[in-house]
Amino acid sequence: MNASRQGADWTALTSVELEAWAEGDGVAVLPLAAIEQHGGHLPLATDRTIGEGLLEAARHRLPENFPLLVLPTLAVGASDEHTAFAGTLSLPPEVAIAVIEAHGEAVARAGLRRLVLFNSHGGNTAVADIAALKLRRRLGLLVVKAHYMRFAPPADSLPAAEWRHGLHGGAAETAMMLHLAPGTLRRAWLDHPPSRGEAMAAQGGRLGPEGEAAFAWMAEDLHPGGVVGDARLASAALGERLVAHYAQCLAEVLVETRELAIDDFQARSEPE
Ligand SMILES: [Zn+2]
Repeated sequence: MNASRQGADWTALTSVELEAWAEGDGVAVLPLAAIEQHGGHLPLATDRTIGEGLLEAARHRLPENFPLLVLPTLAVGASDEHTAFAGTLSLPPEVAIAVIEAHGEAVARAGLRRLVLFNSHGGNTAVADIAALKLRRRLGLLVVKAHYMRFAPPADSLPAAEWRHGLHGGAAETAMMLHLAPGTLRRAWLDHPPSRGEAMAAQGGRLGPEGEAAFAWMAEDLHPGGVVGDARLASAALGERLVAHYAQCLAEVLVETRELAIDDFQARSEPE
């Protein structure tokens, strides 16, 4: 692990400096977040705080002089599943796709060929997938989709049931917030609202909120309070462990993205 922080912030460079970046064939990363309800115990910016915290920690785990260019976080994402609760900001999915695509176009215009979409909100997964393929097809960009919640969690960190059912505002998110932004937790609200998915799994069968045959869900379908999972299992020590783990995963993804032979990825010339 390298202790010094690698890469540059897109917004801190001048246009002239940014042009020079293309020569180095670096990796751009676009953090995708959300501003949405996380129950009574976590702030609306939870997904942004976690995403930026993981990326910051990953920057300290990259090799020296790693050419990483960090775009400003897309704070508001596709959060229509949380719109029944006050404070949620959400882009319609078509708009979210177009916004991600527009940022990818700017990356390509700057002469960069590698883009990592680093996503910290489950609801952004589908729009990121679509935008990534559009950018690949139209511009020949290599676009890697890194959803931290899809990285395998560290062994024995939480019960398997919590990983499966604590999808929103559960132990994992709460623990990472305890580590990254401890003052933001409203401890009096810590609880264990059970997910509808937990009851369905107990009965057997294939349907659930996630998995092999998932149904589209609004947060209130999982629990009327809008969050699920046992946030009481969270601790700052667990959060520190999770952040270190996911940051290491992300750093490895960034390194592999840099190493991937890119000349096979060409734009297709076709009528728009
Ligand atoms: Zn969240």
